[in-house]
Amino acid sequence: MLSNFVAGLPKAELHVHHVGSASPRIVSELAQRHPGTVPSDPDLLREFFAFRDFAHFIEVYLAVVDLVRTPEDVRYLTYEIARELHEGQTVRYAELTCTPYTSVLPDEPGRGMAIEAYTEAIEDARVAAERDFGLVLRWIYDIPGESGIPAADATLGFALDHGPAGLLGFGLGGPEIGVPREWFVPHFAAARAAGLRSVPHAGETTGPETIWTSLRDLGAERIGHGTSAAQDPALLAHLAEHRIPLEVCPSSNVATRAVASLDEHPLPVFVDAGVVVTINSDDPPMFGTTLNREYEIAAELLGLDEAGLARLAVAGVDASFAPDEVKHRLRAEIAAYAPPA
Ligand SMILES: [Zn+2]
Repeated sequence: MLSNFVAGLPKAELHVHHVGSASPRIVSELAQRHPGTVPSDPDLLREFFAFRDFAHFIEVYLAVVDLVRTPEDVRYLTYEIARELHEGQTVRYAELTCTPYTSVLPDEPGRGMAIEAYTEAIEDARVAAERDFGLVLRWIYDIPGESGIPAADATLGFALDHGPAGLLGFGLGGPEIGVPREWFVPHFAAARAAGLRSVPHAGETTGPETIWTSLRDLGAERIGHGTSAAQDPALLAHLAEHRIPLEVCPSSNVATRAVASLDEHPLPVFVDAGVVVTINSDDPPMFGTTLNREYEIAAELLGLDEAGLARLAVAGVDASFAPDEVKHRLRAEIAAYAPPA
């Protein structure tokens, strides 16, 4: 069975959100710590989590953001996400997109934590996850676009003045409509000057011009989603020529209606155009998926066998910003698991 093969295939996950990875099991624990808004009963919680539409997804996401209130919550969330990436999904390396702005110093008095405590909590979890699960974790700090320039200023400060040892990338998420990428040019320039890699979301809910802007003005080295690139042959040719990967998250794209259905997903268009793609899960429990499931979907859309799936896993390793020794080790592990056909 392909699904057994996928489950055991060593993988790198490059586009997955920190809070968005909280599973019902993890949220149940957080809800017990902070009773009130979210049910801690597993059955009720599973019902609350079930994906209905995008508005409900935002409701679930914000409810979980609200449950992450202390450094201990951050540590628990991060460590348990690592456990779930390791167990059953065989993820060996992950670049987790964190949005510290939503946990640090919010407007509400008595809530939020200092950035120093946040940084220490994720780093504790990173070190413990590598020790206990052999999972190598790295961070991407992400600007929540809906909170505009103040969030961008704060996130840049968190990255440059308090950056954890595992921080390697700078991102931009949230809505694209009404949030021009141009706003964030100075932030990305400063982050890049400090050695961080540029990995904005672009072209998920807007057209290819947003991807062009991200490439030209934000120095994007990978594009989060990039679904609308399929509408622009010149852009596809540019991405292919410069080997700029698209981080493809099929179930997320259907859930957010970035694409109408899996059958209409542009993944095959990208591959036919020679664009480098990686397969990722975005906010997996909230979109009712896992990284394994996303690989299975990719296999269906692209007609892949085991060797093809292994090549996709290697593409994820190649597109990562992992240390060279981690890349070598992971490529060797994939090759040993799936000898070339
Ligand atoms: Zn995302």
